[in-house]
Amino acid sequence: MKVQRNFSFRNWAANIEATIPYYYQPDTEEQLIAIIKQHTKVRMVGTGHSWSALCPSQEALINLDAYNKVLALDKNAKTITVQAGIKLWQLNEYLDSQGMAMTNLGSIAKQSIAGAISTGTHGSGINYQVLASLALSFTLIKADGSKITLDKVKDTETFQLALISLGSLGLISEMTLSISDAFRLHDHTSVVDYDDMLRDLDSYIRHTDHFKIWWFPHVDKAVLYQYNRTQEAANDSRLRQWLMDEVLSVVVYRTLVFIGNIFPSLRPVFNKLLVRSFEKPLDRIEKSYKVFNVPAPPVHRETEWAFDIKDATAVLAAYKNMIDRSSHKINFIQEIRFVKGDSFALSPAYQRDSVWVGCYLIGDRGWPELLSDFEKLARSFKGRPHWGKEFTIDTAYLSAQYPQFGAFIALRREFDPSGKFDNKMISELF
Ligand SMILES: Cc1cc2nc3c(=O)[nH]c(=O)nc-3n(C[C@H](O)[C@H](O)[C@H](O)COP(=O)(O)OP(=O)(O)OC[C@H]3O[C@@H](n4cnc5c(N)ncnc54)[C@H](O)[C@@H]3O)c2cc1C
Repeated sequence: MKVQRNFSFRNWAANIEATIPYYYQPDTEEQLIAIIKQHTKVRMVGTGHSWSALCPSQEALINLDAYNKVLALDKNAKTITVQAGIKLWQLNEYLDSQGMAMTNLGSIAKQSIAGAISTGTHGSGINYQVLASLALSFTLIKADGSKITLDKVKDTETFQLALISLGSLGLISEMTLSISDAFRLHDHTSVVDYDDMLRDLDSYIRHTDHFKIWWFPHVDKAVLYQYNRTQEAANDSRLRQWLMDEVLSVVVYRTLVFIGNIFPSLRPVFNKLLVRSFEKPLDRIEKSYKVFNVPAPPVHRETEWAFDIKDATAVLAAYKNMIDRSSHKINFIQEIRFVKGDSFALSPAYQRDSVWVGCYLIGDRGWPELLSDFEKLARSFKGRPHWGKEFTIDTAYLSAQYPQFGAFIALRREFDPSGKFDNKMISELF
């Protein structure tokens, strides 16, 4: 087991930094139980891909990079059991080699499965829930070092309370997930007027397996991604992938961002140019996980809130209106996704089909003002923030949005009476 003293923690976005007295990377369950018993304050970190201050710990931080094995695969039952430190990309590669796939994914695959599930990470598609819905059972090491396994069918009530827990109930050590036979996605990407998108929104959402929208602010157009599941052969060209995913999306885009940071007034012009690069519709078929995951985004600031799908058109119209009338100059996409409602107590999509609206900005200049304006709008529509992204903690507001907030706090008292898994953010929240 690797142990480091006074470890310098920094999250992916570099907006959270902390010195952690003890940092552990255990190889076995015995080791991780011993660490939890030994310390009075413990937090877990997956790959640090959260913007919010979930991971810093006053005393011990556990990372499961070395605890990432596949324990069992059952192709007939379509299940996989893994140690909780496995990364989504490792799952994708392993499952692909076995003719299987993750049923749904978000935009990147860097995260650990435990980290992704613990914050309610999601993809897009109105018939698909947050990734936590793929969990069939999981093992949790509680504050006293005892171990429980919660099963979706046998322990439904506790399972639904405990699955999305921001690492505040204990350490998830193993998980069994539901998976699919390998499939491909037919990706049709096109550009339409923003107002036409709003008019036809319901139809796009209902008639596409995985539908999402990118809006480049200051442009009256929307980029529509329509992914439909297929068993047809892949036909995407490697040259196109290299040109679009590496040259345009990374090299050209970052150069424009760099220039736009020096001359912010040029950002609207650059956004128009970028939308033009999407104007020729794309029609391709590729392996599912390669379509779900997008090219590496530049480091940026991000908040994302889930709203009742019934308010989708109103929220999207109000958001565009708010930006158009403001002095914000935004240099990044705003992402709009859709998920089916679920029953997990702390899921932002709890009991409501949801539209997710992501407000993103590259660079810190102007971010506090943009975040504040976005949050005002989001609260007026009773939005629920993504736990892994940036948001202002207001317990009264949050508890009003989550009918099971009190039940979750009661479970925390039972599982972790001394507050071992607290840090500043967790204490403020619960
Ligand atoms: C570039 C980028 C793209 C993203 N794309 C998406 C997206 O498409 N959709 C989306 O919904 N989100 C997205 N996110 C957010 C991201 O999925 C979440 O923040 C996720 O939680 C990060 O996973 P992680 O492994 O890095 O976890 P961390 O950020 O390291 O930790 C997240 C939480 O999980 C807890 N945790 C970690 N391991 C364990 C464990 N073993 N047991 C118990 N708790 C544990 C931590 O304590 C913490 O509370 C994105 C983030 C980035 C930076």
